[in-house]
Amino acid sequence: MPPRSNFPVKGLSVLQDPFTNKGTAFSLEERESLGLHGLLPPHVSTLQEQLERVMSGLARLATPIERYVYLSELRHRNATLYYRALQAYPAELLPLVYTPTVGEGCLRWSELFHRSRGLFVTAADRGHIVKVLENWPTRDVRLIVLTDGGRILGLGDLGANGMGIPTGKLDLYIGCAGVHPEQGLPLTLDVGTDNVTLRESRDYLGTRQPRLTGAEYDALVEELLVAAESVFPGVLVQFEDFGNANAFRLLERYRDRICTFNDDIQGTGAMGLAGLKTAARLTNSSLRDLRVLFFGAGEAALGIAEQLVAGLVVDGLTDEEARSRVALVDSKGLVVARRAELSPQKRRFAVDRPETLGLVRVIEAWRPTALVGAVGIGGSFDEPVLRAMAAHNERPIVFALSNPTSKSECTAEQAYSWTEGRAIFASGSLFAPVTLGERTFNPGQANNSFIFPGVGFGVVASGAKRVTHEMFLAAADVLTGCVSDEDLALGRIYPSASRISEVASCVATAVATMAWERGLATVPRPDDIGAFIRAARYEAHY
Ligand code: NAD
Repeated sequence: MPPRSNFPVKGLSVLQDPFTNKGTAFSLEERESLGLHGLLPPHVSTLQEQLERVMSGLARLATPIERYVYLSELRHRNATLYYRALQAYPAELLPLVYTPTVGEGCLRWSELFHRSRGLFVTAADRGHIVKVLENWPTRDVRLIVLTDGGRILGLGDLGANGMGIPTGKLDLYIGCAGVHPEQGLPLTLDVGTDNVTLRESRDYLGTRQPRLTGAEYDALVEELLVAAESVFPGVLVQFEDFGNANAFRLLERYRDRICTFNDDIQGTGAMGLAGLKTAARLTNSSLRDLRVLFFGAGEAALGIAEQLVAGLVVDGLTDEEARSRVALVDSKGLVVARRAELSPQKRRFAVDRPETLGLVRVIEAWRPTALVGAVGIGGSFDEPVLRAMAAHNERPIVFALSNPTSKSECTAEQAYSWTEGRAIFASGSLFAPVTLGERTFNPGQANNSFIFPGVGFGVVASGAKRVTHEMFLAAADVLTGCVSDEDLALGRIYPSASRISEVASCVATAVATMAWERGLATVPRPDDIGAFIRAARYEAHY
């Protein structure tokens, strides 16, 4: 739970509130005035000593999921120390609080649950969702991360267990970008689950019903969004991990009505566009020279494909020319124009070619320079696929975006070894460097965590009324610009995770600037937007 403003606390309750608790860092004077004497061990720690204890505590644990639970407990015990740890050690802690470990955290969410964080709204709340939202202890909520658990990472429908994602994402907003903890609300719309095994499992804590669909589902979403706007006026609602049929529809329905974006589509789009631009730089070509084949034609693939088209149009191509640089493969093979049934989103990229089944055959026929995996099927870039990419590209570009690691289309080692070390490779969940013979390869992490924290913070800080397409293009440009010469020399096309806060500040500045330039901001424009963003950041300290 976030801090309760002006809540008078003394004695044990100071230690039990994660936003007032400093644990052993309470000074002797504070212990005296707050009635804490005797309730803590005598040693007064510095924040740095506490951080070192956290890191050594983590090192003693054997598995990532144990560390995930440890950090989640720390968040409940001492939120300042938790966020300080995230800010001080992002490269070490992000893989534990977010992807890949959050995948197991969600699979086992009901089993591991013992303390609430975030709000649940269910179909039984129809007619009084406002009241449910009013139960949240603060009114200054500026950012809601909302999921219905329909497509959690590449793990499918996890129902209420999906709550691990909005809580994890908010931690990145807070820890990496600087959104104030009091301003973020993780929210799960529990509409049931079609995951029968989960629904019937003894531990499952969500609604034990098949998913609500159709008009009833739409009415529930509508009531929730109207209620959110009335209880938290101007709030940004980030749609997260909805199944793809709902994700595209809801984004279309609400993007011009409320302040909202879908990270899986738009955030991933900007992250992918940035990576493709940087990869082109590394091959001494430009974005317009790329031919990009997507394996998977869902939210991530279509989000990147649309951003790529937008980026190419800015570069001077016509929409038609830009679209001709893209092809998609879904479960029925190459997405071709002659297919009778195609969603409007896929239809915009359908190619005028014969139907082709099998990824290798598509690669041989269409000859992509870049292959982007967003299919959620682990190992789908096998040796023949990667060798086909290497056969006609000096530097094949290969992105394996699917999360968590078990769903990655290939490992870094496979990408480098099956292309004789020529691949430019990045993945959604980070792989360790790979050594082949005398050479070491450093894969980049192609993760939307380089985009969404900064976008959300820029929108919140400027009080933007809408989230626009242009904001994502600006974010992609910033991310491309954040890749250093050192990264490029290592063959890494995304910055290191240790720089995530710096990237988020730059993205937030660009997004807020766009909000002011387009008349969407509701906060007076400062003289120096970068300085304004830096000053507005939540820095975790006592
Ligand atoms: P989605 O469900 O919207 O899309 C999946 C697509 O895969 C669909 O088009 C489906 O038709 C296609 N597909 C399924 N089986 C197939 C098969 N056998 N052959 C070819 N295509 C097949 O999901 P999504 O939101 O696009 O996410 C996909 C993956 O990307 C997930 O694992 C997710 O975690 C990952 N992702 C990563 C990032 C990142 O930042 N790295 C961002 C978003 C999504």
